[in-house]
Amino acid sequence: MRAAIEAHDAGADVAIVSKLHPTRSHSGAAEGGINAALGNASEDSPESHAFDTVKGSDYLGDQDAIEVFTAEAPGDIYQLEHWGCVFSRMPDGRIAQRPFGAAGAPRTAYAADITGHVLLHVCYEQVMKRSLRVYEELFAWKLVVEDGRCQGVVCWDLVNGGLKTIGAKTIILATGGIGRLFRATTNAWSCTGDGMAMALHAGVPLKDMEFMQFHPTTLYPSGILITEGCRGEGGYLLNKDGERFMKRYAPNAIELASRDVVSRSEQTEIDQGRGIDGCVFLDLRHLGAEKILERLPGSRELAMTYAAVDPIYDPIPVRPGAHYSMGGVDTDVWGKTELEGLYAAGECACVSVHGGNRLGGNSLMETITFGRRSGKAAAEAALSTADVSFSSSTQADAERELKRLLDRTDGERPAAIRDELGATMLENFGVFRREEKMVRQQEVVAGLRERYERVVVEDKGEVFNNDLTHALELGYLLDLASCMLEGGIARKESRGAHARPYDYPTRDDEHFLKHSLVTWEDGGPKLSYKPVTMTKWEPQERKY
Ligand SMILES: Cc1cc2nc3c(=O)[nH]c(=O)nc-3n(C[C@H](O)[C@H](O)[C@H](O)COP(=O)(O)OP(=O)(O)OC[C@H]3O[C@@H](n4cnc5c(N)ncnc54)[C@H](O)[C@@H]3O)c2cc1C
Repeated sequence: MRAAIEAHDAGADVAIVSKLHPTRSHSGAAEGGINAALGNASEDSPESHAFDTVKGSDYLGDQDAIEVFTAEAPGDIYQLEHWGCVFSRMPDGRIAQRPFGAAGAPRTAYAADITGHVLLHVCYEQVMKRSLRVYEELFAWKLVVEDGRCQGVVCWDLVNGGLKTIGAKTIILATGGIGRLFRATTNAWSCTGDGMAMALHAGVPLKDMEFMQFHPTTLYPSGILITEGCRGEGGYLLNKDGERFMKRYAPNAIELASRDVVSRSEQTEIDQGRGIDGCVFLDLRHLGAEKILERLPGSRELAMTYAAVDPIYDPIPVRPGAHYSMGGVDTDVWGKTELEGLYAAGECACVSVHGGNRLGGNSLMETITFGRRSGKAAAEAALSTADVSFSSSTQADAERELKRLLDRTDGERPAAIRDELGATMLENFGVFRREEKMVRQQEVVAGLRERYERVVVEDKGEVFNNDLTHALELGYLLDLASCMLEGGIARKESRGAHARPYDYPTRDDEHFLKHSLVTWEDGGPKLSYKPVTMTKWEPQERKY
């Protein structure tokens, strides 16, 4: 939506396509906040935000992109505020900022613990104010690529059925993450990496796909997120002996070390028998009822509803869960991909500001800052492009493929394959990675792909055919799993969220200070690399 607003304001004729109503996008689940060096709660600067982000990325983030990001973030926050975003306030009326993991200053602006919900509604208001066309409940399935450029998108109409091709001079993918590749995840059912897969099959490389963030505090067993804001407000992590174990792993930052560090520490405690039923405890009791009710009401409600625990009186059982994809569609700092006419922004893109590990609060900011930038760039490109003209062949091919799928009556429904994929990815490509498990997972995915070739859509109807869309999404997930594994096996080091303590326990800048790129060739992933852009920060040992 941020991209669409900017493209409209730059003079382009814009439409939004979404498989959900826009305010049901998964950004609405974001709780804790959004990072910008406003310097309200203590002294801060874009430079310091940039350094924290570079260090957090384990030096894999592109420093030119990070500098753009941190320099423009404050202006974007004020823009949101002027649009009516109800940020929480300091007593003097300025925007409040809370501490978040691995941040050198309290830098995370927030609206209690419903920040994403608020941002989504503010952006939707701006979309409505401009009367932008929104094709909601339209499932984008394939990009139209002709004459060497992206010219449109073939969509399945979820409400009425049937395929529709929408032509466009430029297209921005903003389809979000891929958490549903893992069984324990904070992500909604809709987070199936569709845009990444569409780009991949249009010949565009995906970058750094092996880097999947596991968030340290997800509720057992649902995987629902309990925001980092809880630790930002002073929450402790305890093992079964009541010990604040993070003091051993990150003596300075303790619970506010970066997410990869905290997740690994938790997993180690659990693996070494100091967990509680596969979890550790997040303890907020010492914050007191007043602070919990004022700053963290949503988290309390989630804990009460989904874990039957009231954090005012009891600690919350939490464990690491798949949360955020650092990898995505390879773009430049204007969201432009290798394919003329195609742009990407938000979680589906990899600019890359997050490198090997994203800092909490940097993702909402990325959707806004790089959403705006890609909207501007895509509008300028569209306004200087003659009309698009494409044949009907992409839709005709899609119709044949769809017919083959819908005509099949013998085989397996998507759900069991999807469940097995999620469970095995968590087992074999989780917080800690082992060579033999990753190789095993490649075989598992190959087996699931064979079963997928015979997948059956039992619902032959046109209206809200979730059976069909689940089958299409499953195809995306399988391809993206292969890309992740290919990158993970080849990256013989430990960096950020890619942890190989058993065979390659340390970072290897000599061989792997580089982005992985994966393209889809001859029915499978093909790997190559490109350099990381460095401006002023040389890699250092990362300690918190
Ligand atoms: C529980 C949770 C809490 C989080 N908290 C924070 C936080 O406090 N701070 C922070 O910085 N980050 C947070 N994150 C991360 C951050 O919220 C996300 O990375 C970010 O919101 C993603 O935004 P997006 O616009 O890229 O994708 P989304 O908000 O997921 O939107 C994707 C859009 O694409 C559409 N779409 C997808 N596929 C298709 C298709 N095939 N056809 C048509 N439309 C499609 C969807 O309908 C949707 O509208 C959190 C993430 C989670 C899961």
